[in-house]
Amino acid sequence: MAQKGNIGVTSENIFPVIKKFLYSDHEIFLRELISNAVDATQKLKTLSSVGEYKGELDDLKVEVLINSKEGTLTIRDKGVGMTSEEIDRYINQIAFSGAEEFLEKYKDDANAIIGHFGLGFYSSFMVSKKVEIFTKSYKEDAQPMHWSCDGNPEYVLEACEKANRGTDIVLHIDEENKDFLENARIEGLLKKYCKFLPISIVLGKKKEWKDGKEVETSEDNVINNINPAWTRKPSDLQEDDYKNFYQELYPYTSDPLFHIHLNVDYPFNLTGILYFPKVKSNLDLQRNKIQLYCNQVFVTDSVEGIVPDFLTLLHGVIDSPDIPLNVSRSYLQSDQNVKKISNHITKKVADSLNDIFKNNRLQFEEKWDSLRLFIVYGMLSDEKFYDRAKNFVLLKNVDGKYFTFEEYKQLIELNQKDKDDTLIYLYSNDAEAQHSYIEAAKNKGYDVLLLDGQLDVHWINQLEQKLEKTRFVRVDSDVVEKLILKADAEKVTFTDEQRSCLTTVFSSQLPKVEKTEFLVTFENLGSSAQPIVLTQNEFMRRMKDMTAVQGGGMMNFYGEMPDSFNLVINSAHPLIESVLEKEENSCQEKTSPLLVQIAELETRRSSLKESHKDKKDEEIPIPEKEEITQIDEKIAKLSADKKVILEAFAAEEKTVRQLIDLALLSNNMLKGEALAQFVKRSIEMIK
Ligand code: ADP
Repeated sequence: MAQKGNIGVTSENIFPVIKKFLYSDHEIFLRELISNAVDATQKLKTLSSVGEYKGELDDLKVEVLINSKEGTLTIRDKGVGMTSEEIDRYINQIAFSGAEEFLEKYKDDANAIIGHFGLGFYSSFMVSKKVEIFTKSYKEDAQPMHWSCDGNPEYVLEACEKANRGTDIVLHIDEENKDFLENARIEGLLKKYCKFLPISIVLGKKKEWKDGKEVETSEDNVINNINPAWTRKPSDLQEDDYKNFYQELYPYTSDPLFHIHLNVDYPFNLTGILYFPKVKSNLDLQRNKIQLYCNQVFVTDSVEGIVPDFLTLLHGVIDSPDIPLNVSRSYLQSDQNVKKISNHITKKVADSLNDIFKNNRLQFEEKWDSLRLFIVYGMLSDEKFYDRAKNFVLLKNVDGKYFTFEEYKQLIELNQKDKDDTLIYLYSNDAEAQHSYIEAAKNKGYDVLLLDGQLDVHWINQLEQKLEKTRFVRVDSDVVEKLILKADAEKVTFTDEQRSCLTTVFSSQLPKVEKTEFLVTFENLGSSAQPIVLTQNEFMRRMKDMTAVQGGGMMNFYGEMPDSFNLVINSAHPLIESVLEKEENSCQEKTSPLLVQIAELETRRSSLKESHKDKKDEEIPIPEKEEITQIDEKIAKLSADKKVILEAFAAEEKTVRQLIDLALLSNNMLKGEALAQFVKRSIEMIK
């Protein structure tokens, strides 16, 4: 006698729900049914291994059969099967309360709904007009049963004939979902969800080409690798196994740098292999390459929220039964287990890097340039990672030598402390362009770091906060004597008048460079240093660099500013002294009378101003006000005359422009027409 009944739903008929709400993600029905089949098969293996099942196991594969004529898709396993009571208990009764509210919230997320209600099996109704179960339990003398339901809550359960143990789930695919009867579609889905399931999944037979035709062989077309590398013991695996598995995951990519085999069983279960890929510079290109599995069932390849952001740049596989499979992403991110897993992965990655660093420093150094992006990103985004990484993170200097923080500190401690006991880390972000500055620093016995990575602007800021009494200074941000101020600098001996004249002389010969400003200053750098040096203020330059990395916002203010350079004139250099001497010899005769007049005018003005000191504006006699205005005009006129004289001298005196050009040249700023003129002038001066 056939049993008839309504499926036990506590509040509402679930079928319209399944059809109505689960319109997206239809394909996951296949994952759910295959997971059930695999579970049933593994249960049988377990029962057999503990002696509760004594029969033959046979070939425990799961088969997927497409019958396009009948319009059916069958998932067949040889697992534990179900008795009549079990069907009643597991299939006919569905806990289903508080449904409406939940469904409204998650209507676009089939995963969440299926997970919440334990509807794995029922997801088959997303694509079927009718579903049948043919099942025979492993239990002795079990009666094979047939269950059938056509999408309204009525089901039929009756005895049937079935020779073999296990379960066939037969889906009568509905009109809208006919694509699930195409071999290629099913094969694609199986490859996506079942690639590493622990039981062989078979879709038809392998095909081969014979006499120009594709024919079926007698060999099963097995979709999956049932023993993927991450499920094996690290001690059983060779380097090549890891590389081969990487190729299995990402065919045709270049080999990874390192792998990390994760293997935890307390306080949660987690296995997996993470790979550090060879990186290109673009941060976004490589994201979402980690695949998340739950007992070898593929769940997702978007792992944000499960692994820390900086590790989403890694590749590989994570498998954990403790990551809830069928839940929404927001739920996943707030799950305590998931948080623990994320922390654990961070720790494990740091530990592994530390091990490689300790055991094979040379290899670590060789791969450092590719690794540093992850590590710096990790240090910037995760305090805990910073604390772990600070022991193995490397600093590279311009000569390609690598140092840990501690080693580097020791290296520069003696020589690179300034007068306030601050340790100065000199760095270059472009060894080529800043070559002359690097050389100057090296000649002084300083070491120069190479910090040319795309996150280094931020990293430098972080390190200045983390490392004690430390400042980073780019080699070209000041003249070498002032990069690390050991004591108060030697005084410039020029008088104000001499400074003023030289400023006019050199300013007049400065080239016009777009969006660039020059400010003439004087330093006593000693007679052996360069006569003129160009420097760029560290703070301003860093602000501009940050703008370039981040763009937008308040920072844009700095991006719009012109580049501002200091043209530092070395008052102690013989060539500068000689320019000054020549200037005085050739101009003083003409400028002296002007200066005398200016001085007289200034004296007169001072005395007028002095007499006005205690008076209100309206008490000052108008003629005196007019006189001051006239004095100012005269002084301006005399100064302009003086300027003309000095500029005429500067134009004649080739050394001036030559010295400026040499300074520009060592900064890579002498280009085009100006460069051509420089070459021409140099030849003339040699003649
Ligand atoms: P879940 O798998 O999350 O428990 P399902 O609705 O997918 O929910 O399945 C309900 C139950 O039905 C399973 O727990 C299992 O006991 C039984 N079941 C489903 N499919 C099979 C199968 N192929 N073989 C044996 N039992 C099965």
